Amino acid sequence: MKYESTRGNHELVDSSEAIRQGMVPQGGLFVPVSIPKIDLASLVGLDYCALATKVIGEFLTDFSKEELAEVIGKAYQSSHFDNEKVVPLKMINDKVGILELFHGPTAAFKDLALQLLPHLLTLSIQKQQLKEEVVILVATSGDTGKAALEGFKDVKGTRIIVFYPKDGVSLMQERQMVTTAGSNTAVIGVEGNFDDCQNMVKDIFGDEDFSSQLSESGFELSSANSINWGRLVPQIVYYFHAYNQMVENGSIAFKDEINVTVPTGNFGNILAAYYAKRMGLPIKTLICASNRNNVLTDFFKTGRYNRKREFHKTSSPSMDILISSNLERFLFHLLGDAEVVKLYDGLSEKGEFSIDDAVISQINKIIESGYADEDEVKDEIRTMLQRDNYLMDPHTAVAMRVYKKYCEKTGDTTPTVVDSTASPYKFVKSVYDAISGVNSDHDDFRLIGELKEISGVDIHPALKSVASLEIKHDSNIKIAEGRQMIKTVLQID
Ligand SMILES: *Cc1c(COP(=O)(O)O)cnc(C)c1O
Repeated sequence: MKYESTRGNHELVDSSEAIRQGMVPQGGLFVPVSIPKIDLASLVGLDYCALATKVIGEFLTDFSKEELAEVIGKAYQSSHFDNEKVVPLKMINDKVGILELFHGPTAAFKDLALQLLPHLLTLSIQKQQLKEEVVILVATSGDTGKAALEGFKDVKGTRIIVFYPKDGVSLMQERQMVTTAGSNTAVIGVEGNFDDCQNMVKDIFGDEDFSSQLSESGFELSSANSINWGRLVPQIVYYFHAYNQMVENGSIAFKDEINVTVPTGNFGNILAAYYAKRMGLPIKTLICASNRNNVLTDFFKTGRYNRKREFHKTSSPSMDILISSNLERFLFHLLGDAEVVKLYDGLSEKGEFSIDDAVISQINKIIESGYADEDEVKDEIRTMLQRDNYLMDPHTAVAMRVYKKYCEKTGDTTPTVVDSTASPYKFVKSVYDAISGVNSDHDDFRLIGELKEISGVDIHPALKSVASLEIKHDSNIKIAEGRQMIKTVLQID
């Protein structure tokens, strides 16, 4: 399997090269040149690791089956994921299952990809015979930073340095990051907001002088953000696993169709479901759920993508996004590289692009979309606990509410998987306030015990002890001090 650029501006590469580079240097994302078909019957009865080895093996063909099986076994071992199914499907009635993607070490679905990516990256480096130690730079607004830290912690041949906006992440998120152990980790608070942090990191990536200084000392920079193919491919697996669980629990017969509802930000998770569908998983409709930042809902309704709009801070911050990077891959598969170049030139020049009505109606046959506002999210969290005895986080609540609105509108009764992307204990205050109907003055750590009392749901093991863990990282810098900080961490000069 070879990989090409969505913008036709790179030669074909192997998967290990696509993973090592992360994105196409001149702009564009790596995509597989074709989407392999898989025999559904061959996946029946497989456990998560065996299933992952099969599905991922279809895409990463320059890795041997043995190599993949070994790293997949490490990534999803029971000391990392606190559920034997890795991604358990909880049926709330005979038609709707919630796919819990938050049983990994940081309680967010990003663990599914970031527990495996470091291994794929180190194997890729070996295959490419690079001698340098790889330094992963991450700018984070919260979830990605901790998931990447846990993934890369103590992985041989790698260092990870995470920059986060000092006053721009939740108390729980900050504490999760600064208590990370591991001899190769660094976590740095930056004076500024997330955009400042991200721009600083991008600026460092583009600085050739700095790169060659690092390279002389034996280091090479790389990135762990969601446009890396190595982060997308592990996510395809859990859609097959969810399907198998629906067959096993009798909600569907083998080969029956299902729908999938995904709380969407950067469009990676839902794109993975689209790849699963193209591989042969019987998915009828993909339901794309947004919060108030509903740029995607508007796009799927009108064909016009317009990022020039007000940015809303919501209770589902991981979906507060106006440029959904992975949409580019989806459009490539429908339209080809020449059209993608036109569209994305338009996006960077004018902040918008449009596609034909004919294409939009083609897309609407596969994707339905909708959004939920803040009141609806609160109401959904409260209702789900009262009526279905299920405690959900705000991202999951967006998906559930959008799914219910879809059912009301269409009358569709197809059995459906709703993705749950974070543990409710990661967003304690939002969840607590939604359930109690008041705006509590207390912080996440004060409310976590009360939330457990009200809901009866066990606290995610990764979050239970966060407040009492030793703080291991306390460096804070100004934007201009980024390069020097990296040198200090790497003990250069
Ligand atoms: C990252 C994230 C999302 C959005 O996923 P995309 O793949 O970017 O669409 C949704 N929920 C949570 C909790 C996340 O961390």
